[in-house]
Amino acid sequence: MEEKIKIQLEKAAGKNNISFDMEERLCYSRDITPISYKWMRMYKTPPYLCDCVIRPENIKQIRKLLKISNDLKIPVVIYGGGSGTVGGVFPLDGGITLDMSRFNSLIEFDAQSELVTVESGIIADRLEKILNLSGYTMRHFPQSLKSATVGGLIATKSVGQFSTKYGGIENILSGLDVMLPNGKIISTTRAPRTSTGPDLKNLFIGSEGILGIILNATLKVLKIPEKMVFRSYLCRSFYDGINAVKECLQSGIFPPVIRLYNQEESELKFKKLGLNEKGSLLIICFEGLSKVVDAEVEEVGKISANNSLKYIGEEIGKIWYENRFDTKGIMEYNRMYGGISDAIEISVNWSKIDNLYREIIEYFRKHNIKFAAHLSHIYSSGASIYFIFYIKSRNEKEAVRLFYKTWREVLGITLSNGSSISHHHGVGLIKKELLKKELGNGYNILEGIKHLIDPNKILNAGKIID
Ligand SMILES: Cc1cc2nc3c(=O)[nH]c(=O)nc-3n(C[C@H](O)[C@H](O)[C@H](O)COP(=O)(O)OP(=O)(O)OC[C@H]3O[C@@H](n4cnc5c(N)ncnc54)[C@H](O)[C@@H]3O)c2cc1C
Repeated sequence: MEEKIKIQLEKAAGKNNISFDMEERLCYSRDITPISYKWMRMYKTPPYLCDCVIRPENIKQIRKLLKISNDLKIPVVIYGGGSGTVGGVFPLDGGITLDMSRFNSLIEFDAQSELVTVESGIIADRLEKILNLSGYTMRHFPQSLKSATVGGLIATKSVGQFSTKYGGIENILSGLDVMLPNGKIISTTRAPRTSTGPDLKNLFIGSEGILGIILNATLKVLKIPEKMVFRSYLCRSFYDGINAVKECLQSGIFPPVIRLYNQEESELKFKKLGLNEKGSLLIICFEGLSKVVDAEVEEVGKISANNSLKYIGEEIGKIWYENRFDTKGIMEYNRMYGGISDAIEISVNWSKIDNLYREIIEYFRKHNIKFAAHLSHIYSSGASIYFIFYIKSRNEKEAVRLFYKTWREVLGITLSNGSSISHHHGVGLIKKELLKKELGNGYNILEGIKHLIDPNKILNAGKIID
């Protein structure tokens, strides 16, 4: 970056808020995408490297930076917690990485409406802990809770582990303020519902930093539920489990957590617990008012018996709950030479799930790829299937090649089964290629919106769309 541009940026952001250090640039040019791990071994510097990291303290500074960026066509990538898994924060053309970590305050707590307004850079876990002090909770628990920011969760359209009852971030977000690339701020209403044309709030949910900078957000909260109960079941097959959870949701019972593991993943879990069970493990967590919970537990007990499920106690559910933020497995595999592992999370209706699941596991078996799968976000119309795959190849380059190939081919099967290529991790760089196929004519609309809002293509160019 030219010296005179550096001086201009320092002036706009404040000298103490900008860093040109290589170490910092390296740290902020990656996320948790497996290929980020491979770069460390494959290159001295990764293929994408930002020119500077800027940590603004206020809105005025951001506005000034965007002005420079528009005038000089300097790319800007917004960085939340860097826990994204699709390369959303890779600075494809260098430029500025805008770290939102100083936007981390709680702005307002409206107890009457059960709404909390926060700056977007607050880490979700910190917000949850603050809420817990007054007996409230978000009930939005992505596994990355401890590293993801509220802005990042909105920008990637996240879901939490309790989504089956409370929904995704789109159900929790009441309203937001966003700065557009031209420095203007859009503030959406925080009223419970609005029929004032297309809801602009939705434009920014899942926008992955390509349309604007989310500055703050108002989220719905609730009182910590009175009672929480776990039930675990053994299903003769994954398909028996699928039938049982479908019946549960279609009977109008929405427990916050339903986790149904396929045979491969169940066996790993049973082994870890020193159990010798065979079949599919189903964990259900119920919570809410005591009497309602008791009634739901009883009804689900009947549904499970009708589907030949065997009740195996509360303990496995409790163990899952205590370890639910442990993500060592995939990370350790990616640190291994020639090893690469990732999670493909797709969305499918009940009418298509059997075929889709069968075709994908056949693909993994044919290519000798170790895999595990589970359902963990369930709807009355279908579910998200989470496939974790483990590739072992002879070197890092080959691992990366197979990584992209596997993604492309599994998502190809997903599309040919009329399902969606992403349930909650977003598109970023990894799924960009197949998005056109999923969106059809909608892709041009997305391009048009991007062009209208960001004509100089300064915000996260090359992500989601070309
Ligand atoms: C171990 C692990 C477990 C995970 N579990 C889940 C899970 O259970 N559920 C789930 O949904 N996801 C999960 N994820 C994925 C990831 O954590 C989420 O996608 C998360 O929402 C990203 O938040 P972040 O703040 O880290 O964003 P980042 O990774 O920093 O950024 C992600 C994208 O959002 C954009 N962005 C960030 N902040 C803003 C902002 N203020 N304004 C506009 N754009 C912005 C970035 O430019 C980028 O495109 C997991 C990831 C890991 C590593």
